[in-house]
Amino acid sequence: MIADLYEIRETGRYGKGLFATQSIPKGTIDAFRCKKCGTYSEEELAKLPKKELDFLIGHEVKEESGQYSKFCDKRMLYGNHSCNPNTLNAYILGRGNGGASIVVRDIKKGEEATEDYRLFEGEESIHFVGGCRCGEKNCMKKTIFRPPAPKKLQKFWEGKINAALQSIPYVKQPLKAELLKEHPELSPLFKKSDRL
Ligand SMILES: [Zn+2]
Ligand SMILES: [Zn+2]
Repeated sequence: MIADLYEIRETGRYGKGLFATQSIPKGTIDAFRCKKCGTYSEEELAKLPKKELDFLIGHEVKEESGQYSKFCDKRMLYGNHSCNPNTLNAYILGRGNGGASIVVRDIKKGEEATEDYRLFEGEESIHFVGGCRCGEKNCMKKTIFRPPAPKKLQKFWEGKINAALQSIPYVKQPLKAELLKEHPELSPLFKKSDRL
């Protein structure tokens, strides 16, 4: 499930991408793998139009089980990679495609939402054949990425994720009700801290 904050548009660089239809503050949980998100059966894969199948294979949209992910909203497929992304998998529901995504830097209306594909552990470096072209200052460029991520990169992600988690109670959370319905144990994340 993805919050209704994005639309799919041409990036002019990488094909299609996700763009904010309004400004989205840091700390917003913008997507999570909900009960309606499943996986493709062999039969369903065989029936998929070639374009869709090529997309899934090309982007390695897989669960840890190795099955291809079937998200309830196709917008969940269109987040492009950046080495300095504005959303990251928040770990709160585990890693990989099974997680939840959190905005780690304010996103302006019209800005592209990005994630870091290197965070999806166990993934082959198929996305980075020929290097990354995200254009960020910290871009790994031609480096071949092989999991696990270097310690320095893990620290970079953790710093951003932890700061964003602190902001959760203080920003509008379009997915709060849906998320808590499936994961009531996450309710402390939405409680304001007494110390502030
Ligand atoms: Zn879903
Ligand atoms: Zn890059």
